[in-house]
Order: sequence, then C-alpha cells, then structure tokens
Amino acid sequence: MTLRVRFAPSPTGFLHVGGARTALFNWLLARKEDGVFVLRVEDTDRERSREEHTEAILHGLRWLGLDWDEGPFFQREGLERHEAHALALLESGRAYRDFSTPEEAARDRELDQEAGKRLRRARERARARTREEEEALLQEGRPFALRFMVPPGETVWKDRVHGETRFRNEEIDDLVILRSDGTPTYNLAVVSDDLEMGINLVLRGDDHLSNTPKQILLCEALGHEVPDFAHVPLILGPDGKRLSKRHGATAVGDYEGRGILPEAMVNFLALLGWSPGDDREVFSREELVEAFSLERVLKKSSVFDSRKLEWLNGQHLARMATDVLLDPVARHLIQEGLLPSEASEVLEGGSVPPEDLPGLPVHLPTLVGLLKVRARTLAELATQARPYLLEELEFDPAAVKKHWAKDPETALARLEALEEVLEECPWEEEALEEAIRGLAGRLGVGLGKVIHPLRVAVTGRMSSPGIFEVLVLLGRERSLRRLRAGIRFLRTDNLPGEGRNETLS
Ligand code: GLU
Repeated sequence: MTLRVRFAPSPTGFLHVGGARTALFNWLLARKEDGVFVLRVEDTDRERSREEHTEAILHGLRWLGLDWDEGPFFQREGLERHEAHALALLESGRAYRDFSTPEEAARDRELDQEAGKRLRRARERARARTREEEEALLQEGRPFALRFMVPPGETVWKDRVHGETRFRNEEIDDLVILRSDGTPTYNLAVVSDDLEMGINLVLRGDDHLSNTPKQILLCEALGHEVPDFAHVPLILGPDGKRLSKRHGATAVGDYEGRGILPEAMVNFLALLGWSPGDDREVFSREELVEAFSLERVLKKSSVFDSRKLEWLNGQHLARMATDVLLDPVARHLIQEGLLPSEASEVLEGGSVPPEDLPGLPVHLPTLVGLLKVRARTLAELATQARPYLLEELEFDPAAVKKHWAKDPETALARLEALEEVLEECPWEEEALEEAIRGLAGRLGVGLGKVIHPLRVAVTGRMSSPGIFEVLVLLGRERSLRRLRAGIRFLRTDNLPGEGRNETLS
C-alpha cells in the first residue's frame, strides 16, 4: 500500500517552526517510502484565514524544499462533501439534531459540571422527541446543529510514536459536526478530507492528541478504515515552556530573512524531536531521507536552541558549493547596502551571473569561498565582507588599539618595511607569503608581529581570512593604498578608531 501523508496547515498565521517540523517529518517519510505527500490548506475558519498567510506558508515550504505531490487543496472547496458526510451520519443514526437554545446549552453545561460528568442532555432530548415533534420544529424553521453521538466504551489506537493510546469515550462530548449555520466543524472536515484524499497516516503535533479519538470515532461511524496516527511531541523554548513568540522568532520566514540556509533549517528541524541514534548532527536533505524513521521520533518534547541552529548553519555554509551560495550572498549584500541598488535590478533580471554584478570591487566567488568557512550565517558573512566591498575602511577600535596604538613606532616601522617589500612583490599568494615571511625573518620577529599590523591596515579588523589570500582578493592597488593610508596615520600620530569607530577616507 502506498503511504499517503499530508500537511494540513491553517492559514491563520505564518508558517511557524512547529508546523514546518510537522511538514518536514511528513515529507521525509513520503520521500523515504516512495509515498505521496499531500498539501491541504485548512481555510474553513473564514474569520481568521488570510490569503497572505497561505502565501507565506507555501513560500516557506518551497524555501525549505518540501515539495508536495498533490495539492494545495483548500478545505473550503470540500464544504458540500463535508455536509454530505455529516448528513450521512444523521441518516445512519450516528448523529442527531440538537435544537437547544443558547440558554438550554448553558444550563446543560452547568448540570454537567455539577454532576462531574457528561449527562448528554441534548442527546436525551433528541431521543425523547417523536418524529412528529421533530418535523414540527423543522417546519417552524428552528435552527439546529448536528451532533455526533459518541458511542460508549473506549477508543484505542496504536500511536506510531507513543504506542497504545486510550481515551474513555465518556470523556468525549457529543461533538457538533455541522453548525446551525450549516458549516462543518474542524473534526468533521478533517476526517472527510482525510478519507477523500486516501490519507493512511496522520502525522501531526501532540496538540492534536485529544482530537484523535473523535476523528477515529467519526471515521468508523462513516464506515471507513481508520488511518494510522503519529503524534510528534511539542517544541519547547529554552525555559521549558511551549515555544512561543516570547522566545524570539518562531516564523520560518524570519530565519530566511536572517540568512539561515534552508538546508540548515531542515537539518535543525529534523533534530527537533528525532534522533538518528548515533552522534551525527550534520545532515543533508538526502541523508535525512535515508536516516529518518518514525521509530526514532522521540516521545519527549525537544528544546529549540537557536545557537545550535546557527552552528548547523555554519556547518552547512562551509560545506556548500561556492557557486550555489553566490546568489543568496549577493541578495544579502544588497540588503545590507554593500552593493549599489542597481545591482538588485540586475540580479532580479536574471541574465547576469552574481559575480558580474555592478559595483563589485572583488571577485565574488573568491570572497565567498574565503568567508563561507568563517561565518555562521549569511548575515554574518555579509558583515565579514564589508572591508572587501566598501571603499572606506571601517576600523575596529580594539584592533587599532591592540596592534597599532600600543606601540605605534614599531607598528609604523613594520608597515614601512612591508610597503617596501610588497611594492616589489608579484601579486600572488605564494610570492606574497614568501616575501612577508622573509621580512619577518630579517626583522627577527614572529610572522604574527608583521601580519597583525598589516591586517589592521588592509581590513581594519582583528581577524580575517588568511592575510595572503586577503591581499590577493583586494588586489595590488587597493592593498598598497590601504597600507600607505595606515602609514600616514601612524606618521601623523592621528590613529583612527581609537575608542571610536572611525572611517578612513
Ligand atoms: N489545521 C490543523 C492545524 O493547523 C492541523 C490539522 C491536522 O493536522 O489534522 O493545526
């Protein structure tokens, strides 16, 4: 039997982390078992459903690379079928008309509470009515809801995550399946859609556990085979409370905006509630499909750790092919104002490769190749890229203080010596390394003593990729210009950035 799973988001909010994790687990199973992944947008709550949320959810799924095989179906399109299913239950005696007024319903609840159990008074009233009395009420046009008649006994299922799970039916209300305005309720619509779409495994969050016995009973009453169920534990914030906005960003789109890679997000979400059973942590999408199984979904809640997400992102960044990163990096550079605005139009135009964008003073693939192993996010990569893209150098006061200001005379002497050596040097990594090592040797100092002041001069920073690679990236002209500007500063005793973040023009 082909596995048929579904992701059924309600477009009442953006795609959040929990929803994305549910979508991912369904997708992984479908891909692993050659199954079918159905996407169904549950838009029956007209008040709260928004088109923009549907768009954001679809965008989020596409961004994560969770492609669906069927859909998107919209629950609202099935209203007639939902109604027909509800009426079939009435027909077969498994549902009844509830003509209760709001006052009667409130009184029923009070009496239930006093008795400490469900008295099912609406059901009793329906049973006590004769056919003629019911006809008369219908003739009068009295509004009614349809309620499902919960049978006695217990509802038991073998949850694919939690194992055997039971609910006593007396705890379950005779749920409304069709409201008095004729609209179906959530549980009925879900069951009707799952039957229609041939879903044979319902994999969703633990927050739906209490709906499951109702859905099983409805499904049985409709004479259909009950699907399997798997309930995935909640995601908690670092304080052990259910993950919410209080803990920071919970919408998947926020992570996209921050420069998290979809590969890293998918990897991170997979580890929220699933464990591979060994100590591997970094997985590609294909490796996840290979390794994933419901047996290893954890029964306990898992904690959302954003530092781990950043770490994973760094791991994926470093592993990704540079050419795949060029486009997302270019977008970030534009977003950060590091490339001129016309670069954005050119990039969107799609006919120019990112490395040929206007306003790029360095070879983009080289820059990305150097930085991808040092940054955890694209945003961080963009920050690290500043010295190579901006004409004006920004000095980190701490770098100036440590490598120039402590002993300005020595720093000046080193930069002057470097100028002399570099002016003569062919601008290639090996030659530059040989020249600078040679200078350190002649001066009788460690290589660091020469490189640190040089790095401040050409990048303004304490750290950077290897200095020889940086010099090649910047090119001869820019490197020497920056070196000479550094020398001027030190000569005039007018250090940049001491305690301030100054720029050098
Ligand atoms: N639409 C429901 C939700 O977003 C999910 C229903 C289901 O998975 O059965 O919570």
